[in-house]
Amino acid sequence: MPLLEERTLTLPDEAATARLGAALAAAVQAMPRRTVHVQLSGDLGAGKTTLSRAILRALGHAGKVRSPTYTLCEPYEVARADGSPLTVYHFDLYRFADPEEWIDAGFRDCFAEPAFNLVEWPEKAGRLLGEPDLHVLLQSDMAGADDAGERRSATMRAYTPTGLTLLNAC
Ligand code: ADP
Ligand code: MG
Repeated sequence: MPLLEERTLTLPDEAATARLGAALAAAVQAMPRRTVHVQLSGDLGAGKTTLSRAILRALGHAGKVRSPTYTLCEPYEVARADGSPLTVYHFDLYRFADPEEWIDAGFRDCFAEPAFNLVEWPEKAGRLLGEPDLHVLLQSDMAGADDAGERRSATMRAYTPTGLTLLNAC
């Protein structure tokens, strides 16, 4: 699939990240039942888990959102806008030593059902993961010494009409 559209948003504070999460959550909730695949890239501490938490909270998950660093995948049951169930799988593939682990773990099954798949460290699964609907690159650049700290951003790339719907909601 070709890149359909790209846009970079600045995230000056965590409230901005929470708003981005809320916008993505609302767009997914309004969609018909289908597999939605969103990849979150960026260095350690760039904000992938923070954005995932914001999305899950906005989807109505009231409990704790654990980083799946050790469990690799955390499942959630929330609801769509029409009240029907929505399954979310939150992955963190950081600990993968080999992309084949994606197959061994049986994670392909999560993409065979109409779930919302949020994947941190998608690069660790290589080509086995396939192309996402939306790719989000989170970046935190330290600004110059005379500047007020760090600059954060999210570069969003849509590869499918579903991804374009998500991007246009942000
Ligand atoms: P990752 O999952 O990419 O390794 P985390 O989300 O776990 O990163 O960590 C991001 C850290 O940066 C958190 O400690 C968070 O509080 C902090 N932070 C500061 N500003 C922001 C922002 N605008 N968006 C996201 N996180 C932020
Ligand atoms: Mg993380």
